[in-house]
Amino acid sequence: MTPQLPGPLGSDATIGILGGGQLGRMLALAAARLGLKCHVFSPDPASPAFDVVHRVTCADYADTSALDRFAEDVDVVTYEFENVPAESAAFLSARRPVLPDPHVLAVTQDRLAEKRFVQDLGIATARFAEVDDPAMLAPALAAIGRPAVLKTRRFGYDGKGQVLLREAADPARAWDEVGHQPCILEAFVRFEREISVVAARDRAGRVACFDVTENEHRDHILKISRVPAAVSPAVEAEALAIAGKIAAAFGYVGVLAVEMFVVAEGAGHAVLVNEIAPRVHNSGHWTLDGASASQFEQHIRAVAGWPIAVPRRHGRIEMVNLIGEEVAEAAAWLEVPGAAVHLYGKGTVRPGRKMGHVTRLLPD
Ligand code: AMP
Repeated sequence: MTPQLPGPLGSDATIGILGGGQLGRMLALAAARLGLKCHVFSPDPASPAFDVVHRVTCADYADTSALDRFAEDVDVVTYEFENVPAESAAFLSARRPVLPDPHVLAVTQDRLAEKRFVQDLGIATARFAEVDDPAMLAPALAAIGRPAVLKTRRFGYDGKGQVLLREAADPARAWDEVGHQPCILEAFVRFEREISVVAARDRAGRVACFDVTENEHRDHILKISRVPAAVSPAVEAEALAIAGKIAAAFGYVGVLAVEMFVVAEGAGHAVLVNEIAPRVHNSGHWTLDGASASQFEQHIRAVAGWPIAVPRRHGRIEMVNLIGEEVAEAAAWLEVPGAAVHLYGKGTVRPGRKMGHVTRLLPD
């Protein structure tokens, strides 16, 4: 049984964070600003979040004695990445409140369950078919058509576990490339733009969305986010409504992000949900410098049982990710008037690794 939620956390309280990446680091910094402590649990000794908290546990997510000690030390548990093993989340939730509730992970860790969840809410997605084995791929391709995207149901991110099947592509080879795992086959969407909504929901059920953000990906990795998104008021309203509906349907507590495609349809547009991230999100990093309360603060407030803020955006904003070797560009950004540079303290540069980001307020 889930332990009862404590009242609003006081200044002696500690929030446990599963995952030690840059998202955990920025969550912990936001918590510190609000006078709250964090304890980060991560298997990686080089976790960027370890540098900014006073208590850390470096252990495997399956290490139940480490999880037990972690639970003893914290008042509530949250996570900064969605692939926390379901068993670890269940183990912790028998000891401490885990927010958002682990049932959200079960849906968002599986692309098939996630797509069905979204469609059951009456929200559109790309057309898709279930592909559990190679024999299911040919009928799925016949139903969906080409081009199509074969995506592993689990553990896909930043384009990993995805293969585009063009007209001439060999399905057997695509199945090899995704590693012979249960997949979904998705229709390739000729989107006009990609957008996301970062939404916060508190324990009282209040929802506050940040403004719709427009996202540009390079090699499947987010490169630039711009806000406001260049979308019509109708698309904006629909995107915000979708995020609110998903947050409410989950009974969500904390911050989530919904990634969407905007597709031209007749004289207007359709909005299709691509993915839900049950956590703070890269496309919300602009809120650190561009809004009265950041996504990280919103998440901490919500899991601490505090009311979420009604955030105000400061202007037109652009956020640029520094990926891999681009971290060297930080030196030039430090000279740019008005630019806010964020570096995640990662010692090792790897291709595709998010090393930092820069936010700029642009003239209106
Ligand atoms: P995902 O891991 O599903 O978020 O996909 C990463 C990126 O790949 C998206 O942000 C899109 O740019 C692209 N992508 C994913 N699915 C599709 C699709 N069905 N059609 C077109 N582009 C896609």
